[in-house]
Amino acid sequence: MRTVYLNGEFVPENEANVSIFDRGFLFADGVYEVTTVVDGKLIGFEGHIQRLQRSLDELKIPHKVDRDKMLEIHKEIAERNNVTEGMIYLQITRGNPGDRDFAFPPEDTPVTMVLFTQHKNIVHAKSLETGIKVISIEDLRWGRRDIKTVQLLYPSLAKMEAKSRGADDAWMMQDGFVTEGTSNNAYIVKDGTIITRHLSNDILHGITRKSVLECARMLQMKVEERPFTIEEAYAADEAFVTSASGFANPVVEIDGKAVGTGKPGAVSEKLRGLYLEENMKAAV
Ligand code: PMP
Repeated sequence: MRTVYLNGEFVPENEANVSIFDRGFLFADGVYEVTTVVDGKLIGFEGHIQRLQRSLDELKIPHKVDRDKMLEIHKEIAERNNVTEGMIYLQITRGNPGDRDFAFPPEDTPVTMVLFTQHKNIVHAKSLETGIKVISIEDLRWGRRDIKTVQLLYPSLAKMEAKSRGADDAWMMQDGFVTEGTSNNAYIVKDGTIITRHLSNDILHGITRKSVLECARMLQMKVEERPFTIEEAYAADEAFVTSASGFANPVVEIDGKAVGTGKPGAVSEKLRGLYLEENMKAAV
């Protein structure tokens, strides 16, 4: 049984209880982060903590994240659960006002903070070798996708639609342009140029995206940050997605059409190599 963290305490998972009046439960009024653990170390920790604070601020959840304390909790929960490779999930909600009301509770209502771990093969995940298949689907999420809220019903429905059509994931589209994957940022490669949507409220500002684009520049690869159409994606030489737990994962099929050779591409492989090297050096 796992040991999880709830509001200042490490407890067995079956003893971690959250109120039915919690705003996270009633309104999806909460934010989250997922940090990857490799060789017992945290990847991209500073980025996740900064984005967490930004998400809280954007939703006016009155909580200041204590970076050092948070690092301590992350390290301890990984150790207590013997997670040397996997993920640490963190969620903070606006807490429990003791009633259901659309209006926010008083500022001094304590937030609810939960962390738990999941074991996962990260470095040698099968999907990195085989690549994944995606379908395209309309992006019907709300307009503030830059905030990492726990409001994940549409991405979950999109994922199920992909699975029902024999694919692994969905690329969501707005006005014919790809926004991102259900839980990752989307890229194509054409004539040696990496193309990925620019940062705005339309997509999550991926921590992995930032680092992978830095790696691309270190490797003197050309990068264009702009929207691309699904037709451009069909005609691309290569495609891939990035996320904390998936690094740079090749996409080999879009809407049933092979991308390039239909095999994982060289660009994503190169980027993944450098990404892992750089991030392991900086891991804490
Ligand atoms: N976009 C969406 C919608 C996501 O849910 C995620 C993963 N949480 C990402 C992109 C990738 O972000 P990161 O690289 O920070 O994991």
